Amino acid sequence: MRFVLDASAVLEGDPNPDDELFTVPGVMLELRSQDAQTALERLSVTVRKPGNDALRRARAAAERTGDSHRLSETDTALIALALEEGVPLFTNDFSIQNTCRELGVPYVSPRDEITRSFRWELMCRDCGKRLERAGECPVCGGESRIRRTKQRR
Ligand SMILES: [Zn+2]
Repeated sequence: MRFVLDASAVLEGDPNPDDELFTVPGVMLELRSQDAQTALERLSVTVRKPGNDALRRARAAAERTGDSHRLSETDTALIALALEEGVPLFTNDFSIQNTCRELGVPYVSPRDEITRSFRWELMCRDCGKRLERAGECPVCGGESRIRRTKQRR
């Protein structure tokens, strides 16, 4: 499974090292503490910048939900990256989650679950098809959602 991570997800979320993980440059700057470095060492995280089009869409969605003044540049970049990659966002931040909902970007909160103990999958909310990417279902055009499938091992 692929995820975009924010700083809280790295520190509190206990991400699964088998997952393919992404974040934005701003998060790496926030993660300079020793604890964060230790957490990062066992994960392989790809650092990527979202494109301008995705950034514009993320900003516009945050304007619509009224979250724009609560989101940092880094927060907006995370949402844009998740949108662009078609990947769920792993975050505790309520304003980020709210903006994701507006955009149809699935998210998981590290506080909801001990995430590492579970497997996750993306599926269509309407027809139940398993999806490779978040976004519109290729079969029925429904919205994607993320759900916990089973406990690992
Ligand atoms: Zn569908």
